[in-house]
Amino acid sequence: TLFLGLESSCDETAAAVVARYPDGRGEILADVVLSQLEEHAAFGGVVPEIAARAHVEAMDRLLAEALQKAEVTPNALDGVAATVGPGLIGGLIVGAMTGKAVAYAAEKPFYGINHLEGHALTARLTEGVSFPYLMLLVSGGHTQIVLVKGVGRYERWGTTIDDALGEAFDKTAKLLGLGYPGGPNVEAAAKNGDTKRIALPRPLKGEARLDFSFSGLKTAVRQAAQAMAPLSDQDIADICAAFQKAVADTLEDRIRRSLKRFKDERLSSESEMPALVVAGGVAANSAIRQMLTALCNREGFSFVAPPVRLCTDNAVMIAWAGLERAAAGLQDNDMTMPVRSRWPLDPSATALIGSGK
Ligand code: ATP
Ligand code: MG
Ligand code: FE
Repeated sequence: TLFLGLESSCDETAAAVVARYPDGRGEILADVVLSQLEEHAAFGGVVPEIAARAHVEAMDRLLAEALQKAEVTPNALDGVAATVGPGLIGGLIVGAMTGKAVAYAAEKPFYGINHLEGHALTARLTEGVSFPYLMLLVSGGHTQIVLVKGVGRYERWGTTIDDALGEAFDKTAKLLGLGYPGGPNVEAAAKNGDTKRIALPRPLKGEARLDFSFSGLKTAVRQAAQAMAPLSDQDIADICAAFQKAVADTLEDRIRRSLKRFKDERLSSESEMPALVVAGGVAANSAIRQMLTALCNREGFSFVAPPVRLCTDNAVMIAWAGLERAAAGLQDNDMTMPVRSRWPLDPSATALIGSGK
């Protein structure tokens, strides 16, 4: 089975062609991604109107490029999948309308995909992970712990009540005068820093609920930076090191509890080692990866991290989610599917304060 995937929910325009074989294995035939990083860098964050315009300009070209690389025509496809939410509405419209147009012209079924489902299922394409497993999604727009029970069966165990983790990295970088995107710059600066010089809070640590909060941490960073101004390079390095350590400690606490809950609920068979899968741009952070690897080793979980290119936004995961849905018989044609800026993966998960994505 062969699917085209389109992604345009945030600041990446992407198109991909992916095949799925009857044994469940997948193969990436084309994977093109255009990041809008430079367009947004001057603003220190994603500007919705700039993003929408950039998607319009790039989508047709990327679509043609993906089909050409995969050496297929739309007629050879079995379906077309596009992200229809959650995300920035202007960008979503571009991908959804393009996908519907291709599907209509080629008389193929259209699959409107939840972006989060794309992230959740990627590890099955790249590492063949089997259900059920836990997923930690840490990106610029999302911070969630999700139990992935099957295709279309998700339980959200935790989410952020304010900022997403990538957003916290970006805001910290901004107030320290480091460039956008902040994550890689904070990580680089932290390498030369002392994690203990500045004391920062560990928000929600020790609480039984599995949610996150990062805005208090950001405020503490601002206060520390103001108290130390003017900042030397060493001061910046020490603040970054303390911030990254606070983040890693917080994640460790939440994930340890999640792994325990997974074991307590006896979600997987005794014979199989359960997996923790990461997704999202923050999963590129090596301090966070090291912490998660060690934690999983201690708790008897396998730590699964797809290649960073497929952890950040891409269209391979959207095509793959379409293929998985098709194989599970979950959806066949939905030309009427609307785009939506908010769309929780787990329908029972009610929006918390702030961005209840
Ligand atoms: P969405 O939330 O819709 O999936 P996004 O585009 O905001 O999309 P990603 O592209 O997955 O998210 O990731 C970008 C985020 O990852 C940015 O906030 C960036 O700062 C962060 N990031 C990237 N590399 C690192 C790193 N090494 N350490 C920490 N954060 C990082
Ligand atoms: Mg992005
Ligand atoms: Fe994403």
